[in-house]
Amino acid sequence: MIFNIIAAIVIIFYIVFIFFIIRAFYSIEKEKREKKEITMNCWYCRNELIWGGDHTFEDYGIDGEGIVSNLSCPKCEADVEIYKKFDDVEEEKKKEKKNDTNKSNL
Ligand SMILES: [Zn+2]
Repeated sequence: MIFNIIAAIVIIFYIVFIFFIIRAFYSIEKEKREKKEITMNCWYCRNELIWGGDHTFEDYGIDGEGIVSNLSCPKCEADVEIYKKFDDVEEEKKKEKKNDTNKSNL
């Protein structure tokens, strides 16, 4: 009798475990698909660019508020920098992000 209960508990744990693995797998796949939509190809060889990181205008010594995104081509080693000025909405988002990072640093 006790073995049946233990077996049932073990089976339930297995089912829950498998459920979480499947869910994790699908969320990773979904993330990949969503990321795939935001891609950019190399101007020279049309290969997909790899995002390296973002910097602020301040980091580059440029006046105003904005973001500089760095991308590079793994095929022909071209470097791409995208300069984007913040509009009011993005400005607010950036400020929120900054506040969040300040909070997390504390
Ligand atoms: Zn290239």
